[in-house]
Amino acid sequence: MYDPSTMAQAARLLRTAREVVVFTGAGVSAESGIPTFRDDQGFWREFPPEQFASWRGLVQTALWRPRRLAEFVYAVVGPIAAAQPNAAHRAIAAMEQDVAVTVVTQNIDGLHQQAGSTIVREIHGSLFEVVSQQGKFLHLLSRRELLHMAKKLNRAREAWFPLAHTLATVRPLLGVGRRGIHRPKIVLFGDAMAEPAWSLAQEECRQCDLMIQVGCSGVVWPAAGLPLEAQAQGAKLITIDPHEGGGDVWLPGPAGVILPALVESAFGRRMEG
Ligand code: NAD
Repeated sequence: MYDPSTMAQAARLLRTAREVVVFTGAGVSAESGIPTFRDDQGFWREFPPEQFASWRGLVQTALWRPRRLAEFVYAVVGPIAAAQPNAAHRAIAAMEQDVAVTVVTQNIDGLHQQAGSTIVREIHGSLFEVVSQQGKFLHLLSRRELLHMAKKLNRAREAWFPLAHTLATVRPLLGVGRRGIHRPKIVLFGDAMAEPAWSLAQEECRQCDLMIQVGCSGVVWPAAGLPLEAQAQGAKLITIDPHEGGGDVWLPGPAGVILPALVESAFGRRMEG
């Protein structure tokens, strides 16, 4: 865990900042029950990326191992559908009362908006946004609809024909309709970044004078380049992660503990658990 002088140093950076970018990865949502990808209990251990992180890999899995695909879809949709913002999301939203904040997130779970953050750039897209094959916006799904889908997907894993059951269940999110193929706006390996979020995020990272990086392993590119771009333009960098950190200040520990403590230390704003 962090020591008090490190927290005081981070709080001073936050209190004196003009424009803050909070850059988040899977770790910020870990305490909401959504597994990260690379930790010991991480997602990629069970579902290797070479098989599950590209549309091509997913189609092959559908053809050859349909039950495995049903398990994978349930493992992605289930925890995100059931998740609620945690103390870290709420602390990030509360920062807006004292300083200009833009959230740049790699997550697709919609939890920053639900916690009340007003400017959120979802650079890897959103599981709730449905687009056409060409990427044109079609409609948004609610968390309630996704939760309903997750419950049915749970049963699809045990069905006689798991692929047919899974495809029928996910049709509001992924399938073929009157207007052709529709799919969630999520960025898989080999896809372009989600626009306009990515271009806006790059600009905002160049403009900010403080970046707070939360729960990012820093190995997913090009997202991992954003802190470097911010630093190259003179921004300070705070990292919050229990396992690894860098920048000007590293606050080791879980985001749901560290972020409320940082907001309280910087602005005297006490956060409820
Ligand atoms: P990652 O899984 O590669 O790394 C997660 C990082 O979070 C690690 O550095 C880990 O030490 C840290 N961490 C774990 N628990 C934490 C906690 N309680 N508080 C703070 N930090 C914690 O995740 P990544 O770097 O974000 O990259 C994986 C990609 O997968 C992302 O691009 C993202 O799009 C996607 N993803 C999204 C979600 C989601 O939407 N919630 C979940 C998993 C993965």
